[in-house]
Amino acid sequence: MSSTANQPPNLSRGRFRSQRISRFTESVIREMTRLAMQHGATNLAQGFPDFPAPAELKRAAAEAIDADINQYAITWGAKPFRDAIAAKYRTTYGMEFDPEREITVCCGATEGMVASLLAVLDPGDEVVLFEPFYENYGPDTQLCGAVPRYVTLHAPDWNFDPEELRAAFTPKTKAIILNSPNNPTGKVFSRQELEFIAALCQEFDCLAITDEIYEHILYDDAVHIPIMSLPGMRDRTILVNSMSKTYSVTGWRVGWVLASPDLTNSIRKVHDFLTVGAAAPLQQAGVLALSLPESYYGHLSTEYRARRDHLVTSLQAVGFKCFIPRGAYYVMTDVSGFGFESDTSFVRHLIGKIGVAAVPGSSFYAHHGGGSQQVRFCFCKKYETLEKARHQFLELK
Ligand code: GLN
Repeated sequence: MSSTANQPPNLSRGRFRSQRISRFTESVIREMTRLAMQHGATNLAQGFPDFPAPAELKRAAAEAIDADINQYAITWGAKPFRDAIAAKYRTTYGMEFDPEREITVCCGATEGMVASLLAVLDPGDEVVLFEPFYENYGPDTQLCGAVPRYVTLHAPDWNFDPEELRAAFTPKTKAIILNSPNNPTGKVFSRQELEFIAALCQEFDCLAITDEIYEHILYDDAVHIPIMSLPGMRDRTILVNSMSKTYSVTGWRVGWVLASPDLTNSIRKVHDFLTVGAAAPLQQAGVLALSLPESYYGHLSTEYRARRDHLVTSLQAVGFKCFIPRGAYYVMTDVSGFGFESDTSFVRHLIGKIGVAAVPGSSFYAHHGGGSQQVRFCFCKKYETLEKARHQFLELK
């Protein structure tokens, strides 16, 4: 036996920690869910419904398994599901996609976004991001060795300064990530804003990579416009979406990426080696989901609007300043009135003493001090859960 046979690996100098992940921290959103479970707190942190998925979808998934759709689908997606995606975009937006060359089914929008970025970015490329942003986009760009350039969305309306956005584009910029309806702010980008962004993408020869998972969760008079549908953007956009939020199946991990054939070719290569494919029986159930009548989507928004109003009323009653969302299912709040030192100390108090979990605003900002008096709550929950939280919030008074 050599004397080194039983040596443990040397972990001390980060020998086995790649540079790629060295700046990663645990996802704050998922950490809050963990803490909520630990403390038995009402979870208004991570955005997933605590009510059942539509019965017909559950049935379709069970039937697909029963019908032996249990082996790999084609790596870029089962043909019936890709056909259903193409049909859905034709009906909803009048947009045409070739299921053979322009659609990639993947494991949720999360994989769709990473696969797309890995397919188009090289180390050193710059990516424009609006801040506050959904926390995954930071690590996603780091995985590619790309450099994020942040542009502020200003409360209370979360508008951006066009000059600041223009200044963020440089000859190194390869893409802008656009999430509308937006997590965490609830902002829905207007046509005029999208046109401004589209013009910059064309001027600087960049791509728009969009996360449109809240497309059907809209309030008041908000309208979702895929930037891909604007003139000059069809071949310059990578559209990422998933079943998770629209059909209340966040655990299914079924998403898709729409892009012109050349881009799709690159994205499919990454996707194939990353995951091979999304769950075959759930893609089959997705055929039914994407064929649901228009009324399903109207009902979804109406339902969530009532839940939004319920949560906003409960929060305002105890002193939160709410930024009323026009889309998605989160409310960003200003908590400066409570006199806590930071968003994290306030959330610690909320979880430990009040029994409600939320997400500290700072996790949506890259710059130091950003969001330090903001907290995000989600309202994709049963009324029973929202009502319980309302009672718990009263302890804050
Ligand atoms: N999109 C959800 C949120 O922002 C879930 C995040 C996650 O854990 N993937 O809360």
